Amino acid sequence: MTRKERYKHFVDYFSKQQPNPVTELHYGNPFQLLIAVILSAQCTDKRINQVTPALFERYPTPQSLAAAPPEEVFNYIRSVSYPNNKAKHLVGMAKILVDVFNSEIPAGIDDLQKMPGVGRKTANVIASVVFDAPAIAVDTHVFRVSNRIGLTTNALTPLATEKQLMVYLPKETLGVAHHWLILHGRYICVARSPKCEICPISWFCKYYERTHTETALLKAEALKLKKVKDQKRKNALNKISKELAKRSVDNIG
Ligand code: SF4
Repeated sequence: MTRKERYKHFVDYFSKQQPNPVTELHYGNPFQLLIAVILSAQCTDKRINQVTPALFERYPTPQSLAAAPPEEVFNYIRSVSYPNNKAKHLVGMAKILVDVFNSEIPAGIDDLQKMPGVGRKTANVIASVVFDAPAIAVDTHVFRVSNRIGLTTNALTPLATEKQLMVYLPKETLGVAHHWLILHGRYICVARSPKCEICPISWFCKYYERTHTETALLKAEALKLKKVKDQKRKNALNKISKELAKRSVDNIG
């Protein structure tokens, strides 16, 4: 199957099954989404959704967050990963929003990345969700699942993954494809043991093709038999060596 065909099957399948996927993060406006996405780095959406209601209530505007001491913000987010750094990032982000961007979330990827805690992934999420820009954010799920399915080849960095997805995915699907890949990676194509047996897209997945097709299974079986044979040969040789060693000791005696 060619890469183009895989992309076609990917888009066809998910467009039908999940026409309107949305982020699992809870937010009410772009400022809150930016906060939630910064907090979600290396943390679960579920955990973030537990802390953000009180945080949003206490700091409803960029001005209120910019004026807060990081130690105070820390108290609201202490249960998320890296709370110290994230508290500093949130306050720093709000200060730049107020001082540089007139308290408006900027639309440009470069401008967004001027704020602490906002890397390329976060900037792409904001650009895509808030401004409907043709951008795709690559997080750990998007990176892994794209590679497994075969949407990317030899993409060793998130940026390389982003570039390949941008080339092959139809522009209008970039925003939703991000969610398709995240949700698929979170619930089926999980990091350690992907649930290939129940995966509905295994029929066009490159990883599945490599590891589960008849040829792949035959190869794996042959490899297993070879290992058993090798081990038997090794055991026989060990036995002979021991026997010879014993005989030479007996002869000396
Ligand atoms: S078949 Fe397996 S590796 Fe491929 S997408 Fe599905 S779960 Fe992931």
